[in-house]
Amino acid sequence: VTAPATTGIPLPTTHEHGWIVESAHRTLDGRVLYVRCDVCGTRRVDLEPHTVAVPGALSRELRDAAAS
Ligand SMILES: [Zn+2]
Repeated sequence: VTAPATTGIPLPTTHEHGWIVESAHRTLDGRVLYVRCDVCGTRRVDLEPHTVAVPGALSRELRDAAAS
């Protein structure tokens, strides 16, 4: 059994990427985030969908006028 080469990439192959946002810009589909893992340097492009706002009332509370 040969020991794993120590000259290889010393980073673990699996780890929790610690994404940091390098830049971001808005698109029609949402926000495009250019992120980079602070641990291994892997870069990724994320799409952050539009934040769903809390639904607001579009109209006043309507009562049945005919009831009165
Ligand atoms: Zn990483």
